[in-house]
Amino acid sequence: MVVAASNIVIHRAAELWHVTSPVAFPASSGTIRRGRLGERFRFEALSNVGLAIDETTGRILGAGDFHQIKARHEGAKVVDHGDGVILPGFVDAHLHFPQLDTMGSHGKHLIQWLETFIFPAEASFSDAAVAGETAGRFTKELAANGVTTSVVFSSVHPIAAEVLFSAFEASGLRGVVGKTSMDVNAPAAVLLDWRADIEAQEILIKKWHGRHGRLYYAVTPRFVLTSSNDQMKALADLHARHPDTFVQTHISECEGELKSVAQAFPEARDYLSIYEDYGLINDRTLLGHGIWLTESERERVAGHGASVVHCPTSNSFLGSGLLDLKKTCDAGIEVALGSDIGAGTSLSPWATMLEAYKIQAQRSQPLEPESLLYLATLAGAEALHMDGDIGSLDPGKLADFQVISFARKPILHERVTRTRSPAERLFATMVHGDDRILKRLYVAGRCLHDA
Ligand SMILES: [Zn+2]
Repeated sequence: MVVAASNIVIHRAAELWHVTSPVAFPASSGTIRRGRLGERFRFEALSNVGLAIDETTGRILGAGDFHQIKARHEGAKVVDHGDGVILPGFVDAHLHFPQLDTMGSHGKHLIQWLETFIFPAEASFSDAAVAGETAGRFTKELAANGVTTSVVFSSVHPIAAEVLFSAFEASGLRGVVGKTSMDVNAPAAVLLDWRADIEAQEILIKKWHGRHGRLYYAVTPRFVLTSSNDQMKALADLHARHPDTFVQTHISECEGELKSVAQAFPEARDYLSIYEDYGLINDRTLLGHGIWLTESERERVAGHGASVVHCPTSNSFLGSGLLDLKKTCDAGIEVALGSDIGAGTSLSPWATMLEAYKIQAQRSQPLEPESLLYLATLAGAEALHMDGDIGSLDPGKLADFQVISFARKPILHERVTRTRSPAERLFATMVHGDDRILKRLYVAGRCLHDA
């Protein structure tokens, strides 16, 4: 059928790669084993491709051979990306806004690293001018790295979350933002009394949660050691009052942390049970790291439908440990990827995918390039229950996509001439790719970044 319409745009490119989900999972599938890598998605690679988009709705009409797509949409405008490759926008499911400028702080394990570098840096985000200037650069960096959706810890200060939401609003990107909650065990400049903390979050949720259909709120206890019993209870109540908010926190990142948690909570069955007992673990919870989860904890995380966000460059940097991705996925846990800057060392999901590969290679479980792309795109969308709208380039989804070009990095350009398949090119791009290869970035069909 020929559809004649002036509001249709066809993006033409040399290739299109995405990971698409062939199986429709029910929305609330806590008991379904969701996380088996490779069993539940299909890598699709098209060449001489056209991606047709309805500019009015921002949604994808279809992708396929350019000439066939062109014939189907007579009169559509064509944007020719030449040698470009179209991919879904990346989902960075765990990172810290106030740590943008502390990446590369040398030589400590988690707790000392927080005390030495991070808490002093985060303290400066009580200043609206500091937070505002950083927020502008933060969202620009996300766009420049092909990240269309991110899940972000702000600092403890309400003003920092407010200006970060404003920066996301202005940028056109999708963002899930949480004001980090801490009221004990840290310097006073990064603590906030739990009552004031809840009051500030009610205001943020009312103003920002669901705004434009692309900004959302996450209830964000940093981790169990920096929140009092009163604060944890209040945060769980807050989430219960607003059950469509997300919850994000950290768990079982390194062994030193496990010891401190065991000392602080001698009665607790294990680390996860502390969050469980407060009612903070459900299918809207994203748990950063989860490297040292026990078998019982993994089973319970899966049972709750909560997700683990794997942050490989951060784990390598702090020496936190090597996540057993196979065991985590085999338990049925949804796993997404996060840069976790500033312990993470790059905002580029290409670097994050490569490090995920290296960590599993250390465990003699090398991942296929398609699985890595899945983790950086559709898996993040699934963890956020946004996979009906984003994460792949299937018809009906919102047109969140990026266009990369090998030619923008000569060593990659040369490398891909020696590849035999899209999967080989995809993997070579993980090794050589960074923000230099991005040509354009689109959210709901609208161009937000043109390099
Ligand atoms: Zn983190």
